[in-house]
Amino acid sequence: MAEALQLQQQEAAAMQNRIPNNFREPSSAPLRKLSVDLIKTYKHINEVYYAKKKRRAQGTTQGDESGNKKNKVNVHVFNEGYDDANHDYIINPGEKWNDRYEIDSLIGKGSFGQVVKAYDHVDQEQVAIKIIKNKKPFLNQAQIEVKLLELMNRHDAENKYYIVRLKRHFMFRNHLCLVFELLSYNLYDLLRNTNFRGVSLNLTRKFAQQLCTALLFLATPEINIIHCDLKPENILLCNPKRSAIKIVDFGSSCQLGQRIYQYIQSRFYRSPEVLLGIPYDLAIDMWSLGCILVEMHTGEPLFAGSNEFDQMMKIVEVLGVPPRHILDQAQKTRKYFDLMPDGSYAPKKPRDNKKYKPPCSRKLHDIIGAENGGPGGRRSGEAGHTVADYLKFKDLILRMLDFDPKTRISPYYALQHNFFKKTTDESTNTSNSTSTSPAMEQQTASSPSDIGSGPACFVNGMVSRGQLRPQ
Ligand code: ATP
Repeated sequence: MAEALQLQQQEAAAMQNRIPNNFREPSSAPLRKLSVDLIKTYKHINEVYYAKKKRRAQGTTQGDESGNKKNKVNVHVFNEGYDDANHDYIINPGEKWNDRYEIDSLIGKGSFGQVVKAYDHVDQEQVAIKIIKNKKPFLNQAQIEVKLLELMNRHDAENKYYIVRLKRHFMFRNHLCLVFELLSYNLYDLLRNTNFRGVSLNLTRKFAQQLCTALLFLATPEINIIHCDLKPENILLCNPKRSAIKIVDFGSSCQLGQRIYQYIQSRFYRSPEVLLGIPYDLAIDMWSLGCILVEMHTGEPLFAGSNEFDQMMKIVEVLGVPPRHILDQAQKTRKYFDLMPDGSYAPKKPRDNKKYKPPCSRKLHDIIGAENGGPGGRRSGEAGHTVADYLKFKDLILRMLDFDPKTRISPYYALQHNFFKKTTDESTNTSNSTSTSPAMEQQTASSPSDIGSGPACFVNGMVSRGQLRPQ
């Protein structure tokens, strides 16, 4: 009996020794990286790969000392030579696929693959083909994107809801290829073209109305799709000279009730509920839209956080500390806030000692220059930029940036907002007298100091993202 007890104790001690003293940080556990954080993980792998590739290319052209090593021929062959080491198809302009698609050039690169311009000889039109990486997780995720796009396109037979059209899809040399209507450049490129001074309130309104309509469509019960990555880069002009836009990239999207990922939305546009780790719904896209609209008019991101803590603090500077009832139930509250003895919350002391303005002290009213002639006073005296126009804009944005997703304005009520109502001064929100198209914006801002380079430089070529913009 004593022997058995001793044996048991020895076994227990041995088992105890097998338990590591320090548990792995939950956020870095492999299972988590490949499940709820899958998109984040692959975006990171992608960034690292292309950063290395860029450094390698720079090293080779500069001919530095390590050039010899870098010049070594890559002896690895991927997918019978069709792919590079990052599972991307190697684009060959002029190549004809399936005796139908003639590949023209690369127009975009994302974490899921590449987008090329091609000519469809059967339908005799230009198309954009998104070539998904030849790797299982990307294929799986892209299949969800196809399913969602097909659902949306089916319910939008008349093409009224500002969602990109997926024409068809097929497999080519182990890559899933999505054939889209060809669109023009994105809203981030448009901002760059204003030298980050922003577009007029009239054009911002045109974009706002289309995007609210798109969100209203996504919220219809048969659809119920959360885009999860709404940002200027994912909103494309249909034509460089017109204000019509479409939303692209449903690669991180999901239907309500089918949420898989916790780490979603690009940081600048990430909603408080996602930052705080609270279950989210379609309202996260409305938060992103509020951020995007301010950026379209001022030219700069409203909350340009350099990490999640910084992101939350930048939100707090403008909107104050989130309400108690939200922080009480959030998993990640302690990452950002300390609980005070009276039950209230205060921002945590930043680890890097970075200084922040007191909560609520950076007013949206001042950021948009409501009473000061617009952002930086640049719209002073311009038609359609009166104080009354700005107050309506501010009111709508503050409703979009409600901390509480339950009371945040819905797409339906957003579209009823005064900001979209015609005023006695017709010029404020119609297209007759002030600039309301991207081309006109560029003409109005076309003094050499206003515009660095015309649209032609990026309409045909591939545009790299701004260096500091997070994915
Ligand atoms: P991300 O890394 O943002 O998730 P992704 O791999 O999912 O990107 P998309 O965002 O769908 O790829 O496309 C990448 C880029 O390709 C877009 O930013 C855009 O510039 C371009 N692009 C996508 N679809 C089209 C289209 N239909 N017409 C023209 N250009 C397009």
